[in-house]
Amino acid sequence: MARIVMKFGGTSMAGIERIRHVANLVKREAEARNQVAVVVSAMAGETDRLVQLCREAASLYDPREYDVVVASGEQVTSGLLAITLQGMGVNARSYMGWQLPIRTSGHAAALIEGIDAAVLERVFSEGGIAVIPGFQGVTEAGDVTTLGRGGSDTTAVAVAAAMKADRCDIYTDVDGVYTTDPRIVPRARKLDQVSYEEMLELASLGAKVLNTRSVELAMARKVPVRVLSSFVQPEEIKPGWTEGRGTLVCEEDEVVEQRIVSGVAYSRDEAKITLLGLPYKPGVPAGVFRRLAEANVNVDMIVQSRARTSDSVNMEFTVPKRDAQRTLELMQANQAEIGFEEVRRDDEVAKISVVGVGMRSHAGVAETMFAALADKGVTIQVISTSEIKISVLIDAAYTELAVRALHAAYGLEQV
Ligand code: ADP
Ligand code: ASP
Ligand code: MG
Repeated sequence: MARIVMKFGGTSMAGIERIRHVANLVKREAEARNQVAVVVSAMAGETDRLVQLCREAASLYDPREYDVVVASGEQVTSGLLAITLQGMGVNARSYMGWQLPIRTSGHAAALIEGIDAAVLERVFSEGGIAVIPGFQGVTEAGDVTTLGRGGSDTTAVAVAAAMKADRCDIYTDVDGVYTTDPRIVPRARKLDQVSYEEMLELASLGAKVLNTRSVELAMARKVPVRVLSSFVQPEEIKPGWTEGRGTLVCEEDEVVEQRIVSGVAYSRDEAKITLLGLPYKPGVPAGVFRRLAEANVNVDMIVQSRARTSDSVNMEFTVPKRDAQRTLELMQANQAEIGFEEVRRDDEVAKISVVGVGMRSHAGVAETMFAALADKGVTIQVISTSEIKISVLIDAAYTELAVRALHAAYGLEQV
């Protein structure tokens, strides 16, 4: 007997037929005498639809009411899955975030503070299955909250940690974590294992197969996470059918395959801000970033350069696209005080990153990246690195070309 969390994403829950299929997968685990908590997403497209309705209702909506609206998608699918399981003779019931409770703080991108496992323990002791809506929680005051887009993965890992699950299985529409988004590179290769650290970088750099916070939490609480596909033929669903499938996200020293680069990620979610003609003296960058910090704008990549013959510098940095207009206005409003000559904004940029723990001990990874991009005529605008990743900012029009070129340059393709 094992304790497992099974999480099903939006495409897996899209409609009664799919939900029935999911119910079969759940039933199979229950028949194997496992203690199961199921975490579900809203049907594919539903959360987008609900967010859009909020926007139409008022351009400046209250985050509390936004949460009331968008949390409803998961309420529907959890109820439908419980009904379907009951119809198959399985002892299942849904438990909303407030019923467990999943205690959170804040609205719209709420943080999980804790999950009480008492209800789950009772359900398991009675031989039942708990179906839990992902993405939602409750505040101290009893208000419904949501965890930010893609947050059902985080619910799943948090529930797994709370109930001390043996594993957390994330069922989605691909059969694991790939060397890059298989939608862009059909020859991308599935990884059998990936370390928490690499997965964390890949997720935060754009690989949306797992939500970043869910990986952070899995790493902190040492929850073994497995990513696998719910799209299997009914005849494949036999006892133990998941053995060896998907991708296991685990500790680095458990990863058997040695590789320098594990994956390539891309993101079009950032915009570039350029400040031209900044005074070259102490305190100037601090003045720029203090204003951004006060406005709660998260800066990612930064580069500053000084022309040989001048006493001024140019600075470029990236911010989330949704904050780009605000940042531009903030800089314009402070132009005289900061003392730059001109500010520009460019939304047509993409960040391409290569990730791999092998970079720690191998030279030449950056060279391979820059040479591969040069070979395709792609100009690098900004570079940033960490111990296990290198990111470059390029013209968004070259995103797919660059991802494919890098994927090939590091020999990541299927053979
Ligand atoms: P779900 O609705 O199940 O949560 P998501 O759409 O959030 O599913 O995540 C799955 C998608 O992530 C895949 O369809 C795939 O296109 C995308 N993806 C991006 N990068 C990767 C990667 N490196 N490996 C696998 N899938 C990836
Ligand atoms: N339904 C939510 C979203 O689309 C949460 C999730 O599916 O993870 O963002
Ligand atoms: Mg997702």
